[in-house]
Amino acid sequence: MNIALIAHDERKKEIIQFATAYTNILKNHQLFATGTTGKKISDATGLPIHRFQSGPLGGDQQIGAKIAEDEMDMVIFFRDPLTAQPHEPDISALLRLCDVHQIPLATNLAGAEILIRALDRGDFEWRNVIKDKKKDQE
Ligand code: PGA
Repeated sequence: MNIALIAHDERKKEIIQFATAYTNILKNHQLFATGTTGKKISDATGLPIHRFQSGPLGGDQQIGAKIAEDEMDMVIFFRDPLTAQPHEPDISALLRLCDVHQIPLATNLAGAEILIRALDRGDFEWRNVIKDKKKDQE
């Protein structure tokens, strides 16, 4: 599965702890992240991560584009709800696209832990079914 990892500055420590705790699951998937989040996670865990631009420079939009193409299977986005972000419109657009395309999304640690365990159990295999169907139609 393709998994996007994003964390605002106040949540970066938390996403590093999350990625460290679940490295054994995450290593079985293709990981994508906004620039700084991706660098910090790969430095801490050694996981290979495709890094987009930093969030404020367009990284959220790049991940949104992947969602629009149905190329992202899960989004884990540790948002900081207490700090105004300069790229708020990009963040809203990304969350909206998750809803448009029925992409599993967690915006905090509690939700992310549920999603990652469900992923490990195979609960998101329906994503592969959808992708296979699309390929057949092409
Ligand atoms: P960053 O971007 O990982 O480059 O810090 C995250 C964001 O602020 O959306």
